[in-house]
Amino acid sequence: MSLLIKNAHAILTGLPGEAGRHTGPDIRVVDGVIDAIGVLTPLPEEPLIDARDCVVYPAWVNTHHHLFQSLLKGEPQGLNQSLTAWLSATPYRFRAAFDEQTFRLAVRIGLIELLRSGCATVADHNYLYWPDMPFDTSEIVFSEGAALGMRIVLCRGGATQTRALEQDLPIALRPESIDNYIADIERLVKRYHDPRPEALRKVVMAPTTVLHSAPSSQLREMARVARRLGIRLHSHLSETVDYLDAARARFAMTPVQFCAEHEWLGDDVWFAHLVKLLPEEIALLGKTRTGIAHCPQSNGRLGSGIADLVALEQAGVTISLGVDGAASNEAADMQSEAHAAWLLQRARKGMQAQPRYAGGTFEGGADAVTIEDVVRWGSAGGAQILGLTRSGTLQPGMLADIAIYRLDDPRYFGLHDMAIGPVACGGRAALKALMINGRLIVEDDTVSGIDLGAMRQEALSAVRTLKRRVGL
Ligand SMILES: [Zn+2]
Repeated sequence: MSLLIKNAHAILTGLPGEAGRHTGPDIRVVDGVIDAIGVLTPLPEEPLIDARDCVVYPAWVNTHHHLFQSLLKGEPQGLNQSLTAWLSATPYRFRAAFDEQTFRLAVRIGLIELLRSGCATVADHNYLYWPDMPFDTSEIVFSEGAALGMRIVLCRGGATQTRALEQDLPIALRPESIDNYIADIERLVKRYHDPRPEALRKVVMAPTTVLHSAPSSQLREMARVARRLGIRLHSHLSETVDYLDAARARFAMTPVQFCAEHEWLGDDVWFAHLVKLLPEEIALLGKTRTGIAHCPQSNGRLGSGIADLVALEQAGVTISLGVDGAASNEAADMQSEAHAAWLLQRARKGMQAQPRYAGGTFEGGADAVTIEDVVRWGSAGGAQILGLTRSGTLQPGMLADIAIYRLDDPRYFGLHDMAIGPVACGGRAALKALMINGRLIVEDDTVSGIDLGAMRQEALSAVRTLKRRVGL
């Protein structure tokens, strides 16, 4: 089966350097794979997508999300809190309020938002697991993804210890046993994990935070089980200065050193945030080719800071973008995230030196990062981190994960270089089409089978239900 994308105004490929742009203007997709890019003649009866006045990007790869938070946007008690206070005020306070129906709706809303921003792949760091849970959140994430044709990487979060006394905790906050946690990972891998590059379902070992979610003796076991099963490792790390203080106080080492000690570094590992790092930590992450999910909007919203992507990339770290959960990012879409990444890396130049973290070589500035860099991080970088060796760039032989943006809003009128529009102009450019593995998932901004009006009513009602359940 063949399809021709014809007359694109501009094509960004996700590749580094000069190859970041292709003059096209046509792309042929055959059996879900990019067959050719260039000046191409339509074959007899070949279906066409008219991409005149449109800009073509590789579909985004979102490497860090918490989809259940899609019903917790702008929650007032957490709105003006920094990380630790926000965690108690919002995600943890509402955790037990979710049932199968509200969880499913939250996942669906999050996925639709991502799709309509041109995103094909999402790594959902799901940590809604507790002992004897009455519904299977893993199954819901995979089935909602499958219904939409999206590529889902389930990062199986959770904890095997807490900082509070267990018997005082409500059931939804109690930790699992390590045996149950590992057994569930094995069940998920057997049932869902597909090692092929074109797979739409992958599983990752992802205790919620390496520093706090498990006793250190169990972390090494988790890493070894993951490598035995051929799956990747993911967690939160160094989102705020608290991580460094905690690691030094409890283990007399830096957070990244702690990860190294427990076999939690490597090209099969990526961490969300990495905002606060010492120079030696950046060097160690780079040397081991560990990856980052950079979440600038969430880091901004929580006042955590701005990760130093240029220093990290120079050191050898693979860079990707993640929107993080919607409870700390009211614009949980990949175009907004890329826009923020572009601006904030440049804005670092204006930041005061932070003596405790001094030593980075990078000071930001207007030439620190280009739109092509941001597109590469948000597509090729993400695919590399997730082990999706045939996604993330537009070139022959790669899977056809392609976003075609229609720049017909007044915000793009007067733009000298249309190629940069979807990232530089902010907001959400409308989609002419989004393809995943060559399959058309979004056409003219519409996801087939989804009634947005009905979903909006369901969301209003679900927010009322969740508030009632926490006593509001
Ligand atoms: Zn997160």
